[in-house]
Amino acid sequence: MRITRYAATFAAFGVVLAGCSSEAGNEVEDAAQETQDVAEDVQFDEGTTMAELAESGEITIGTKFDQPGFGLLNPNTEAPEGFDVEIAELIAAELGIAPESINWVETVSANREPFIQNGQVDMVVATYTINDKRKEVVDFAGPYYEAGQDIMVAAGNPEGIEGPEDLAGQKVCSVEGSTPAQNIRDNFPEAELITYDVYSKCADDLANGNVQAVTTDNVILTGLVAGSPDEFELVGNPFTEEPYGIGLEKGDEEFRSFINDVLEESFENGEWAAAWDRTAGAITGEEAPEPPSVDRY
Ligand code: GLU
Repeated sequence: MRITRYAATFAAFGVVLAGCSSEAGNEVEDAAQETQDVAEDVQFDEGTTMAELAESGEITIGTKFDQPGFGLLNPNTEAPEGFDVEIAELIAAELGIAPESINWVETVSANREPFIQNGQVDMVVATYTINDKRKEVVDFAGPYYEAGQDIMVAAGNPEGIEGPEDLAGQKVCSVEGSTPAQNIRDNFPEAELITYDVYSKCADDLANGNVQAVTTDNVILTGLVAGSPDEFELVGNPFTEEPYGIGLEKGDEEFRSFINDVLEESFENGEWAAAWDRTAGAITGEEAPEPPSVDRY
């Protein structure tokens, strides 16, 4: 497996990343653990993205590297792990591409659209909310999961924050280029918003008392709380809908339709739920929810 790290930022949650360079474009070779059955003798129509990828035997996929349960770099294997990673592996497997032939690229929230538009990745699976603004420049398969914006506070909730209205006059951290940061800007302007490129920096700020809250999707925050239960707690009152899609080049309808087929099959044959149980579910103890319906727009 190859990992390309454009913007490496790791912190806390007991994750030690010894030996990992933060240089742009650093590549690390490693072996991956296989969790999916890889399709053999795959056939696709000539000229399609699926045919090109299957022929090359490789795929470049953007995901998060600092989100426990969804996309977190394992310092021992130097490969990312999580629900997003397994969903991506499932799609690659249907293209006849084994996990060790996936080139993982860290996509932070703000660089997902540009990385797709510039062809730096073949697809993005990275807690990526489908919305109309993003659909102006990229397309989405899915959704494959429905999250909701929530708030994480210090354990014991010293400021008594129960929802976004209580953020007025408080310092709240989120990530640039994310829907939760935009929601705070647009609808809760009395909150003092601080943004970074990744959520691990927000968690550091909360642990250090530099901010009173962190806001993003509930499942991301749940993963962070699970890593530091004595330091953090989830407010647990989601106030938006964040349907997660797989970002791909705008206009590639065949590839979008192919991915939607793979997702639907995984919903039906139990692979989707099994991937949840191995990853986000294992961290939080939450059972796999009902899978959403894919949107064949
Ligand atoms: N799902 C939201 C988004 O796509 C927040 C999570 C993230 O930043 O990845 O912006």
